[in-house]
Amino acid sequence: MIPIEKLEVSAYTVPTDLPESDGTLEWESTTMVVVELYAGGHVGVGYSYTSPAAVALIRDPLAGAVLGKEDIPAAFAAMSVALRNIGRPGLGSMALSAIDVALWDLKAKQLGGSLAELLGRAREAVPVYGSGGFTSYTLLQLESELAGWVGLGIPRVQMKVGREPPSDPLRVRRARTAIGPVAELMVDANGAYTPKQALRLAATFHDESAVSWFEEPVSHEDHAGLLTVRNRAPMEVAAGEYGSELRDFRTLLPVIDVLQADVTRCQGITGFLGAATLALAEQKAISSHCAPTIHMHLGASVRNFRHLEWFHDHVRIERLFFDGFVEPAEGVLTPAPDRPGLGIELKRADMEPFRVA
Ligand SMILES: [Mg+2]
Repeated sequence: MIPIEKLEVSAYTVPTDLPESDGTLEWESTTMVVVELYAGGHVGVGYSYTSPAAVALIRDPLAGAVLGKEDIPAAFAAMSVALRNIGRPGLGSMALSAIDVALWDLKAKQLGGSLAELLGRAREAVPVYGSGGFTSYTLLQLESELAGWVGLGIPRVQMKVGREPPSDPLRVRRARTAIGPVAELMVDANGAYTPKQALRLAATFHDESAVSWFEEPVSHEDHAGLLTVRNRAPMEVAAGEYGSELRDFRTLLPVIDVLQADVTRCQGITGFLGAATLALAEQKAISSHCAPTIHMHLGASVRNFRHLEWFHDHVRIERLFFDGFVEPAEGVLTPAPDRPGLGIELKRADMEPFRVA
């Protein structure tokens, strides 16, 4: 590779289209932090969905760690050391992730192919699941969103549960009725339930509404609770979206069925590939969380990849910000072979009104 000559970072905060909440959090906007790396006439682009506070960490110390570096492992190692005394998990890893993704995008552009080509393909097309169904939605909004995805040919959808547990069985039944009997129905509690509550509801969701996936039935930090639910619930149990470091995935793998990881949190493409390999060693699949444009390339390449989250908020933002944004056809995303790197160009004029840093 050519040495990194310059790093630019910016941040954009986009309000939600409706009030949004899940089982444990409410939010009214989403921030994307964008990194651009310049080297030899190419510009590598990476991003993370995180706090604007990541901008400060990217400017100092991470920019200093990558400038002048010629290849990804060396740059990654220098960033990892630079965060040692500040805190690598959480915000540090999200900042590092945006740069790591930009490094991979830059390398693919320098080699003249898509990121999926650079990584090598396990498949041509990447299965997605529609994801949203917020607990702040009315029943009509919930039904309309989930049925809309199924109408587009996406054969699996996920809704949020856990805000008001007594009303969850009804919301889930209404969702099943809206999407019909064939599509897969997935639920995400974002850690809202206790283990016993989760077990009771798992049986209800399964028996009444054929729910096949229970994400974070209890807190991702409660490994004993996750194991209890995983061993006794009739559907698959998944977690991992908050993972920062490889050891987070290693400790989670024994207590879940399907591992989740987010390339914008888990130290980028480098970190996601590591998490996928750990899952492969345990004969488990990995499913990606959010950020569909980046995960499309990983999904085409990672052998044990299950599916990609087609998440309401991020689809909306990436559709607005990225020229070259790929939409699903019949439930799959296919990276464009003729577009280098991530396959996107920033629509700067459309991004500017949302700029916060
Ligand atoms: Mg989730």
